[in-house]
Amino acid sequence: MRPNGVGTPQARNFGGEEEATLSIEEYKAFHRRSIEDRDGFWSEQAGRIFWNKPFETVCDFGRPPFARWFVGGETNLCYNAIDRHLDERQDQDAIIYVSTETGAEERYTYGDLYAEVNAFAATLRELGVGRGDRVIIYMPMMVEAVFAMLACARLGAIHSMVFGGFAAGSLAKRIDDAKPRVMVTTDAGMRGGNVIPYGPLVDEALETAEHPPESVLFCRRGIDEDLELVDGRDLDYAELREKHAGAEVPVQWVESSEPSYILYTSGTTGTPKGVQRDTGGYAVALAASMEHVFDSAPGETMFTASDVGWVVGHSYIVYAPLLYGMTSILYEGLPIRPDPAIWWKIVEDYGVHTMFTSPTAIRALRKQDPEYMKRHDTSSLRKLFLAGEPLDEPTSRWASESLGVSVRDNYWQTETGWPILAAMMPGLEDAPVKAGSAGFPCAGYDVELVHEETGEPVGPNERGVLVIQPPLPPGCMSTIWGNDERFVETYFSDFPEELYSTFDWATKDEEGYHFIMGRSDDVINVAGHRLGTREIEEAISDHPEVAESAAVGVKDEDKGQVVFAYVVAKSGDKLETEDGRSELEGSIKEIVATKVGAIARPATIHFVDALPKTRSGKMLRRSIQALAESRDPGDLSTLEDPAALESLRSGTSGEG
Ligand code: ATP
Ligand code: MG
Repeated sequence: MRPNGVGTPQARNFGGEEEATLSIEEYKAFHRRSIEDRDGFWSEQAGRIFWNKPFETVCDFGRPPFARWFVGGETNLCYNAIDRHLDERQDQDAIIYVSTETGAEERYTYGDLYAEVNAFAATLRELGVGRGDRVIIYMPMMVEAVFAMLACARLGAIHSMVFGGFAAGSLAKRIDDAKPRVMVTTDAGMRGGNVIPYGPLVDEALETAEHPPESVLFCRRGIDEDLELVDGRDLDYAELREKHAGAEVPVQWVESSEPSYILYTSGTTGTPKGVQRDTGGYAVALAASMEHVFDSAPGETMFTASDVGWVVGHSYIVYAPLLYGMTSILYEGLPIRPDPAIWWKIVEDYGVHTMFTSPTAIRALRKQDPEYMKRHDTSSLRKLFLAGEPLDEPTSRWASESLGVSVRDNYWQTETGWPILAAMMPGLEDAPVKAGSAGFPCAGYDVELVHEETGEPVGPNERGVLVIQPPLPPGCMSTIWGNDERFVETYFSDFPEELYSTFDWATKDEEGYHFIMGRSDDVINVAGHRLGTREIEEAISDHPEVAESAAVGVKDEDKGQVVFAYVVAKSGDKLETEDGRSELEGSIKEIVATKVGAIARPATIHFVDALPKTRSGKMLRRSIQALAESRDPGDLSTLEDPAALESLRSGTSGEG
């Protein structure tokens, strides 16, 4: 099969005319075809990437619920992300790296990226890394993390990226799961100007791990001068890079369903699961999503403000933009430092077209002076995509009004690798977005909302668990790394007919718009009334004094559960006096009672400085709830900021 130009003309606007305006019905027809003519649809989409050897079978579903896509086809992620573009894009920026922690500002063209990745691949190859070997990448937002990922892909090796700065215990667990040959790391990370030395974390992890790697490759950035390399174990990448400068490492073609990486879920509901991703299906799905979901074009610039250590970073900082021939911005730093306009400065400086981040980040900006949102010329920006947590209406409205762009929610999971639902239909630019809705199923996803016990489809506006009829589309997880049984048991055992459960609640209105209500185990049951955490939090965040909130159900003798709300106030002023505090408390309770219903009125409001979140920005409601019920907060390995939990502990024991 010849390397097709990305974005076949027929595919643009879902098969319609270039200028065509799409109706919801047309979108639905496009989507229906992706399910009913599954193989036809995906074999067309497969033309978006280069196949060294054509596939024989589009989808092998002979051993449900396991699906294999583009079976027999040979391809390579690195080749598709870099080599394939060289003729046309040698001098186009591929990666722009901006760090407000170190002050770095570096541009790498596709030509530069080719050279860097080849030097990296030559280094890994020298350390014995080859097809199927695992490499742990334990790094912050450094450009070398991207080089390392792509170098692994080039060699047919499997990367397992661990958020930089994760505690030694979490790192050791992931090392033992992956049994890596090599680990790639650095001397230190930085966050808000604070240095986090990695050396001691690495040493401790390697001491406790049962399957430590043979070598540790340090990409030093000169932050921790005290780092001492261990003889016989550690290597300095700077030396090896020089040695391999100009190297060209042949691409290792792999069969489409060979794993490309292992990545852990965020650990919001418990112990993280090691998602195994394939190669060909992932490449095809990502390339298709750039057009169908992110409305982007080759040559444009995408800024995904996320971390490479989680799925949004893997898919939309690294692989998708590069597969699609775009320029991708890699940003290290906080959204509010040196000031809360930094993202919009980047948008202006580099003419960003597509931006992608999380509602959590936007809520952090919403706490700041709105002036920062307008300080820069952001007219290049077409859309702001948000995912990761329910996007409450007030936040969505605020972002859209302050930036003057369309804000689009999309809903997915580490497991799926790319959006399941998206509030996006190119061709139908403005009409279809409903505030608070994550939109419609993306092509390939056969989505259903079912009753939690019977598995029967629920009616319009009724709450049901969002399930996917297998086979899962291309790009979704192939299995849990090293544990097929856990894969089947975890995801396919809740309902008859082996439906894939997302464990999220949703409703769908008469027109087919989906609304994610939160996780199915987050539902609060007050005297037999089932309340979504999201509805309550959304009501609370409509209060002008509120920056952020978390609602949890807490055991109660009479009612089964009552609502506790944890609230971060925009400013501490009101909380200084007893009167101010109780007035605020009263008005928050009132807004919930008015908007959701009297039954949802929080029994208690706790004001806290911060809410505990995972490294990927998700609220750890289970830990909040456990603390409120004086239980053990559970697996905290992915907790971002221990201080937030402390603030909560003191909040919980304090007044109500
Ligand atoms: P774990 O599975 O380990 O408990 P996690 O589910 O938080 O962690 P991720 O895969 O990072 O790990 O997050 C996916 C989840 O995030 C979804 O299942 C959903 O609950 C939530 N989510 C993602 N996007 C949205 C969105 N647009 N609206 C509402 N919720 C979302
Ligand atoms: Mg999950």
